[in-house]
Amino acid sequence: MTIRPFHPPQRVLMGPGPSDVSPRVLEALSRPTIGHLDPVFVAMMDEMKALLKYAFQTKNELTMPVSAPGSAGMETCFANLVEPGDKVIVCQNGVFAGRMKENVERCGGIAVMVQDEWGRAVDPQKLEDALKANPDARIVAFVHAETSTGAQSDAKTLVEIAHKHNCLTIVDAVTSLGGTPVMVDEWDIDAIYSGTQKCLSCTPGLSPVSFSPNAQAKIKNRKSKVQSWFMDLNLVMGYWGGETKRTYHHTAPINALYGLHEALVILQEEGLHNSWSRHQKNHLALRAGLEAMGLNFVVPEAERLPQLNAITVPHGVDEAAVRALLLSDYNLEIGAGLGAMAGKVWRIGLMGYASNPRNVRLCLSALDDVLGRVKAPVKHGVALEAANRKLAN
Ligand SMILES: *Cc1c(COP(=O)(O)O)cnc(C)c1O
Repeated sequence: MTIRPFHPPQRVLMGPGPSDVSPRVLEALSRPTIGHLDPVFVAMMDEMKALLKYAFQTKNELTMPVSAPGSAGMETCFANLVEPGDKVIVCQNGVFAGRMKENVERCGGIAVMVQDEWGRAVDPQKLEDALKANPDARIVAFVHAETSTGAQSDAKTLVEIAHKHNCLTIVDAVTSLGGTPVMVDEWDIDAIYSGTQKCLSCTPGLSPVSFSPNAQAKIKNRKSKVQSWFMDLNLVMGYWGGETKRTYHHTAPINALYGLHEALVILQEEGLHNSWSRHQKNHLALRAGLEAMGLNFVVPEAERLPQLNAITVPHGVDEAAVRALLLSDYNLEIGAGLGAMAGKVWRIGLMGYASNPRNVRLCLSALDDVLGRVKAPVKHGVALEAANRKLAN
């Protein structure tokens, strides 16, 4: 059998990530590969760091993309900051903090879980109580934008509470970066990681991270070596670090970095504030349409992420059949529920390049049609008009 070249279909990606990738980013990926120590490439790396500092709103020198997906950015934060025996408070309100717990334990730390209801923001009072009960805690970790439920937590307040109790903070901003405000310096976040395939609309496989001077000091003063050779920032910085000569650590994913550079240039051209308001505006239009149909959001209004809309599957509807029809008949991907929400919700992403009025209208018209065909109890012929009214403002 001759296996032929793989040509994927052209989909519209409105799930929890990856999101639609801009044609400009796809074009950047196909530019000529050069050496990862080529002076031209090294100059591009410096620009990349400047662009990431802008995206994170930080002056942190230790700001760079880890050469692997968001999960590796997560591991980089935990592997470098958690030493054996360290107590880490992990606030959990969805799937991803469960992975933080795994990371803490695999680094030899002790995870103290603070549980919140799924679909709600992290409760600052519960964190305060946990810190009072665990005065020996060294680190607080939480997810800013919980992609499994669509809830956004108040990162600024949570970091303030952690610092009051002399803890460093590790923040998951995989889904928030570029879509809603992430102010690393203003909020005084110590370690933060993100991903490229959510609101940055780049291909998956890279994880921007940033570390404050306090976090760097903890890493420098570790008693034990970082267990992971690949993620040890003391070594990685030999390649990504500013002043000294770049030395080989691993071969950077050169073309993937062209893609991220382009995605960040696009973000800079639009401006962070404009990007945030675009995400909000398209969310409000999608919401108006969904609610006109009679569909309900999982998360209370004040805690909702504009880039990830979790809605409850109407009673008696086969949620997987709906997603399958959207994919086959509209080339439209939306997300299923994850973890405790599997089978109960759909997750509609409006992330990065995919957050646009055309996608809002496509998704609403497609849902109107498909939900009619599976005889779901929703109101037909009203969603588009409701969304259009919001988009006209
Ligand atoms: C997607 C996601 C991750 C994991 O990123 P990968 O690139 O899939 O490894 C981690 N945390 C959150 C909140 C996410 O949404």
